[in-house]
Amino acid sequence: MKIALDGPAGAGKSTVAKAIAKQLDIMYLDTGAMYRTIGLYMDRLGILPQDEKSVEKALASAEFSVKYIAGTQHVFLKDEDVSEKIRENRVSALASAYSALGCVRKYLVKMQQQTAEKQDCILDGRDIGTCVLPDADFKFFLTADSAERARRRAEELKQKGQDFDIDALKKEIEQRDYNDSHRAISPLVRAEDAVLVDSTNLNIEQTVAYIINIIKEGR
Ligand code: C5P
Repeated sequence: MKIALDGPAGAGKSTVAKAIAKQLDIMYLDTGAMYRTIGLYMDRLGILPQDEKSVEKALASAEFSVKYIAGTQHVFLKDEDVSEKIRENRVSALASAYSALGCVRKYLVKMQQQTAEKQDCILDGRDIGTCVLPDADFKFFLTADSAERARRRAEELKQKGQDFDIDALKKEIEQRDYNDSHRAISPLVRAEDAVLVDSTNLNIEQTVAYIINIIKEGR
């Protein structure tokens, strides 16, 4: 069974996908973490997204890997576990900038498809239903209004003890959605056959239950 879960930033995709994977006992792949890692890697090398030739060259020698430790996905650059580092706010913008490049998408989509091929899984991202797994058994497009998404992100940062400005967070989220939706290659768009799930007024448990119900009925 393959499940595609797409949607804009901060809609709760990863929390929902993790819970679904646990309930159905299938693998979960967070593809956003992969774009974040590549963004961090290019930034460390000082290669700008405008310089696609150098990005492509650097990808060829990137020692990037995804590993599961005690059932949780970790991302590595060489031997360094960067799973925490990629969650920093500035890495979100880096991920979005480099993810618009064809060479980056080609590199990561291939890895994602190879991973998905081997097992039952749920993948979350922006282009899973349209590009990575166009034949997925179930496709969902999870969204929520941007004020609610900013509020959830703020809650996360608060729990981590990080500073934030709620208006700036909302603007960042809207800017990232705009960039992701307007890029030329694999833009963020709902696949025609994806079920739209608006979680603005739903909590995580309700969202997960709604999706699981559709999967169980469709089996
Ligand atoms: O999901 P997350 O917010 O971690 O993704 C970070 C960024 O990576 C997104 O804003 C988007 O630009 C990019 N991304 C993508 N395609 C995916 C997953 C993420 O372009 N499948």
